[in-house]
Amino acid sequence: MKDILGKTFECTCGRIHEVPDIEIVESSIKSAPDIFPEAFFIADLNTASLVNLPERRSFVFAEKRPLTTVENVNRVIEESGDFPEIVSIGSGSLTDIARYAAYLSGKQFSCVPTAPSVDAYTSTVAPVLVDGVKKTFKAIPPRKILIDIDILRNAPIDLLRAGVGDIIAKVPARMDWILSHITNNEYICDFVWDDIKDLLKEVLLRSEDILKREKIAVRTLMNAQLVSGLNMVIMGSSRPASGAEHMVSHLIEMFHEERGELPPFHGLTVMIGVFVSMKAYEVLMEEKNLPVEDFPIDERRKELLELFDEKKVMEFLKTYEGKRFQRVDLEKIRKALEDIYSEFLPLLKKALETIDVTSMIRKYRREFLSKIVRLSNTIRDRFTILDVFDEMKLLKSFSREIF
Ligand SMILES: [Zn+2]
Ligand SMILES: [Zn+2]
Repeated sequence: MKDILGKTFECTCGRIHEVPDIEIVESSIKSAPDIFPEAFFIADLNTASLVNLPERRSFVFAEKRPLTTVENVNRVIEESGDFPEIVSIGSGSLTDIARYAAYLSGKQFSCVPTAPSVDAYTSTVAPVLVDGVKKTFKAIPPRKILIDIDILRNAPIDLLRAGVGDIIAKVPARMDWILSHITNNEYICDFVWDDIKDLLKEVLLRSEDILKREKIAVRTLMNAQLVSGLNMVIMGSSRPASGAEHMVSHLIEMFHEERGELPPFHGLTVMIGVFVSMKAYEVLMEEKNLPVEDFPIDERRKELLELFDEKKVMEFLKTYEGKRFQRVDLEKIRKALEDIYSEFLPLLKKALETIDVTSMIRKYRREFLSKIVRLSNTIRDRFTILDVFDEMKLLKSFSREIF
């Protein structure tokens, strides 16, 4: 990864790619105040205890898991005063709060990840909750990332599971992308797959070691997360990192948020989505038979209204009805996916077992998860395997039979 940081190059995909210049420093988390002598730090109740933060230039959220809300972002802008840089000590949400606060106030931003749980550290966008609705805003990449492997490997076990869950999602995400390229002629880049696939394989093979907190295995996971974040920056979109599995995850997350509940860690709901995508690709690649069933739009609307308010449902349906597909050629898709399917699917299956996807699936009622699966292709205009099933009128029977 380090060899591409800060570079601009012409890619075989025909586009010119620009990689942000991020400095990656390996050191003890305790040295953060010296590594960032001018910066203002933010932390939460869990992460503040990891560093001896100078009181004059830090702010600690009173919650254990502060959400990325506009209110929290504004709070940090206010607290950070005239300091030229904001540094987060934490995982997903704290990083996003710091990134967006720094961007809005024209400051620099750096981060000290405390768990290898998401691929958002190297990102340039920030998902922020505005009146309960998640919106993604333009922000800035970190100037520097401080990695302390002992902190990362000793993160809470659910954050390690979530980290594996979010990173293995890049496999079905890539398959969805190839599928859409074949079906809809969507632009695709091979560089962003080539630069991550070996890391992904390593993570898949060593998922057990990651949960055992083994140093090199956790480091590989973290590297994969950093590369995945960079891939999104390089593409200017989350396409390389997110397909149907993330739509399943987002729908579950939104369901919780709608009810004012804290959703499970992101990668934990993503792993349910990876399970769904994996099953879908099994059906497609192994030509398994599913009963053909209609899923009329009125029924879709009715089921959405059981989960979300009318305004949101109207927005979803508008997105859904705007999706246009060209002809689906199953033989062509199978051929294009053959290699990646045979190389990665067995590994994916094993890793899902290791991180115990079953315990996540059991948290929800079966009927609820089936509904999520048949509705998830409504929320975004991104083309995935679930759209192919929808086109072939298999979505309803698939959603019932997988759980
Ligand atoms: Zn994710
Ligand atoms: Zn490219």
